Amino acid sequence: MKKRCALLMVVLLTVILTACRSDSSINIDVPLESDETEQFFAMDTIMSISARGFSVAEAISEAKEEIYRLESLLSVTDPGSDIATINSETGHAVIVSNDTAAIVTKANEMANLTGGAFNIAMYPILRSWGFTTGDYSIPSEDTLSELLSNIDYSKISVKADTVTLPQGMEIDVGGIAKGYACDAVKEIIVNKGIKTAIINLGGDVQLVGSRPNGSAWRIAIQDPNGDGYLGTISAIDKAVITSGSYERYFVGADGKTYHHIMDPATGRPAQSGLLSVTVVSDSAYKADALATALFVMGREKAIELWREQGDFELLMMTTRGDVYITEGLEDSFEISADYSGANVNVVSK
Ligand code: AMP
Ligand code: MG
Repeated sequence: MKKRCALLMVVLLTVILTACRSDSSINIDVPLESDETEQFFAMDTIMSISARGFSVAEAISEAKEEIYRLESLLSVTDPGSDIATINSETGHAVIVSNDTAAIVTKANEMANLTGGAFNIAMYPILRSWGFTTGDYSIPSEDTLSELLSNIDYSKISVKADTVTLPQGMEIDVGGIAKGYACDAVKEIIVNKGIKTAIINLGGDVQLVGSRPNGSAWRIAIQDPNGDGYLGTISAIDKAVITSGSYERYFVGADGKTYHHIMDPATGRPAQSGLLSVTVVSDSAYKADALATALFVMGREKAIELWREQGDFELLMMTTRGDVYITEGLEDSFEISADYSGANVNVVSK
């Protein structure tokens, strides 16, 4: 419930912030060109797509169908999905769709890039904490060490149109699927000749082009400590994707808070000193996997990877309340009035 409210907040803030800046130079008299917005529920979250141009209703409807199609392939809980079939037939090569083979391949590339901080084989561990069902509990040390012995993602084999898992391993692509869907939806929209759109898949945002007047979109980033927002990022044609401990959590019988981003090194919620990580990139699947992985890795390792890679930018908030941005966001990040006293540290190469 908490998650849905937070996501709706991002949706609303996005709409409000873009609406507040409407520009009188937009020519609303151009025939046949129109604005369309559609909001719907998929992949366990609230999604919205807004676009301006010709045939936008048709493009949005196609995009929605694509999201439902990807959901039916990638859902870990739908027994008919590719992922559920791979999980139930471990030890066997399972024939899957091109998209499933592609997302598993990309997930493992991201696992290699992040030293295993991103790991789709964490599913049984997430289940042991109750994150897959909502039936939360704290697993025992014995349970965790047994489950941790079977998360070696390098044993996941993708060959042409088949995926094979070793006996007993199960995967979940929830940490990358919405980003992958953002990329797919963007492609559909761009192929229709639409030059301006905003795709918001539960707070994972993909921008197509600029706002109609040519200026940057302003995306509100959720405040990890409350219901407001931490600040805004102005961007054109980018994916802006956030992972945070506030998105899904429970309070255990011991009174401690346990969140849903797991550290594959411990089998426990990552305690890296971060509250949230936002990644801005040309590639949404990459931004999605990185946001999850960099949350696990913590600020210093995240910055190290940023220095090595150079194809994404970062906004991070620490548990101590400090804000860090990489230098590419210096001109585009604006802290909200709620945090006007906060120290914004700009990280350079
Ligand atoms: P996100 O909201 O993109 O950060 O994804 C979080 C979701 O990814 C969780 O709800 C889990 O399903 C899954 N997950 C949690 N920890 C990891 C991890 N270390 N690597 C890959 N996926 C993870
Ligand atoms: Mg993610």
